[in-house]
Amino acid sequence: MTPLLELKTLQVGYGESLVLQDLSLSVNEGEIVCLLGANGAGKTTTTRAISGLIAPRSGEIRFAGKDITTLPGHERVTRGICLSPEGRQVFPNFTVHENLLIGSYNPAARQRRVEKLEEVYGLFPRLAERRKQKAGLMSGGEQQMLAIGRALMGCPRLLVLDEPSLGLAPKIIIDLYETIATIARQGLSILFVEQNVQAALLIADRGYVIANGHIAAAGSSADLSKAEFVQEAFLGKK
Ligand code: ATP
Repeated sequence: MTPLLELKTLQVGYGESLVLQDLSLSVNEGEIVCLLGANGAGKTTTTRAISGLIAPRSGEIRFAGKDITTLPGHERVTRGICLSPEGRQVFPNFTVHENLLIGSYNPAARQRRVEKLEEVYGLFPRLAERRKQKAGLMSGGEQQMLAIGRALMGCPRLLVLDEPSLGLAPKIIIDLYETIATIARQGLSILFVEQNVQAALLIADRGYVIANGHIAAAGSSADLSKAEFVQEAFLGKK
């Protein structure tokens, strides 16, 4: 089976520094895959490369069987790669509703706006209640829901989430993760970046660990949570 997303020996960097030196991973249709790693390991850089926000120096990115390595970001959205970025980056002076509409700017998604809005408001009733509120006045958890909702408005086949749990209280993280699992059950593929390894491995089917610019460990969530390297580095066990 051809994976939905495939990164092959990617090299990505900024200026003179090479952050990803040889990164390969894949996401199959319908899977939830997590990307783990310490601060500065290159997780966000990976999501930027997938979304077309930074060009790899070498290597290949394939999506739905096609080479998209040089495809501009907006065309990747049209093909079904939608990102909920690090730090949420909602538009603070726009309402919740307006932020969601921005997610469906591409023509294909615009046609499905009404249906998608209903879906997002169904998944996140809090957003429906606050639809007229300025996004900047929402709580951290609500802004995270909004960032995910905005990505869903683009009609993704692959949803890329950069640290959805960052800065949220444990109870909110559990609720948010349950919703992410619900989204996946509806047939979407999800690649998400996390530092909260314990929570991530609860909902992911598989995971990858980035260290030193490449994949240092990979496997099913069950295998990764048992791996000595992951236990020592991320789960505080010796
Ligand atoms: P964190 O969990 O702390 O967000 P991360 O794994 O997502 O970390 P990245 O944000 O991808 O890591 O950063 C990887 C490395 O690239 C870091 O050393 C960072 O300082 C550097 N870096 C990130 N963005 C830029 C940039 N725009 N210009 C220069 N260096 C950058």
